[in-house]
Amino acid sequence: MKAVQKTEPKIGAKLVEVPTPTNLKPGWTLVKVRATSICGTDIHIWNWDQWSQGRIGEKALPQILGHEFCGEVVELGPNCNRIKVGDYVSAETHIYDPGDLTSMLGIFHVGNNMKILGVDTDGCFADYVAIPEIVLWKNDKTMPPEYASIQEPLGNACYAVMGEDNDVYGKTMLITGDGPISLFAIGVAKAAGASKIIQFGMAQYSMEIGRKMGVDIQIDVTKTTPDERYKIVMDNTGGWGCDIVCEMIGAQSSLDDAFRCIRKGGRFSAFGIPSKSPSQIDYTDQIVFKGIQIHGISGRKIFDTWYRNGNMLANRKLDPTPVVTHLMALEDYQKAFEMLTAPTRQCAKIVMFPDKQELNAALARRK
Ligand code: ZN
Repeated sequence: MKAVQKTEPKIGAKLVEVPTPTNLKPGWTLVKVRATSICGTDIHIWNWDQWSQGRIGEKALPQILGHEFCGEVVELGPNCNRIKVGDYVSAETHIYDPGDLTSMLGIFHVGNNMKILGVDTDGCFADYVAIPEIVLWKNDKTMPPEYASIQEPLGNACYAVMGEDNDVYGKTMLITGDGPISLFAIGVAKAAGASKIIQFGMAQYSMEIGRKMGVDIQIDVTKTTPDERYKIVMDNTGGWGCDIVCEMIGAQSSLDDAFRCIRKGGRFSAFGIPSKSPSQIDYTDQIVFKGIQIHGISGRKIFDTWYRNGNMLANRKLDPTPVVTHLMALEDYQKAFEMLTAPTRQCAKIVMFPDKQELNAALARRK
């Protein structure tokens, strides 16, 4: 089969021919990939940055990239019982260990022995991917592959927006950032009934998508001072600050904005990852005396966010089309990564198709 593989500990990846996985382990399945999308994590691995060097390391190479996908189950290993050959599936990429305490407590997406698809295992930028059935999610048959593939990042957005309380209707929300997950978050917040959605961003191309997703107020962080941004938020929230903040960047300046603009007793979803740790937070005034709740968003809520997003997409109550900006052949992965790492990005989510017929069908749906 063909696969996009990291072969050497340096920038880039190669399109190679590798054996299709055989001798599936008990509980594992083989899925023929119909569509696969590129995530920020793949860009880290593509660049072979410090995080990839530490997390994956030279010893794991060669390794196939990718973790967002949908496809058809073509083979089952021993002891599979929920999934059948022919099922149209996507996968939760946090491959949990049922023996982890967190799994036993129902918090599947974090765990000491959890593995991540395409990070700790071979990924899905290939014709086929081997994956345990416990993380497979069955898709509605009518869902186009280009949407079924993006449910993983959409799940991050859903978890950040909804939190654990699912209490969004009528509330004001600040979403920082203009990457695909921030843009998805705008769509989820809108669908969930947020009364006012404010976005802090900078890239014009992405801010335009934010408007299509239903944002109410956009603030360009390159053209405003922190005091000006704070004032706009206060003016638009009756002087209280935002009820919910989804912090999707992690940079110190963004954290400063986010903690300042959240109202007392508000809910803070912490998703953005700082390039440098530790970050500075005024623990006393910004957390304790403000009485806020901070919720780390590491992954999705298995399978709650999958269930909700699947229903919203299948019933056409959430349209991710503006964020899915490019449909390409898997063979064109090089071009896709070049676009994603360009200084002024002219793309958001890129979905790739190993099969040209699938690509042509997806392009036809766009017309
Ligand atoms: Zn992802």
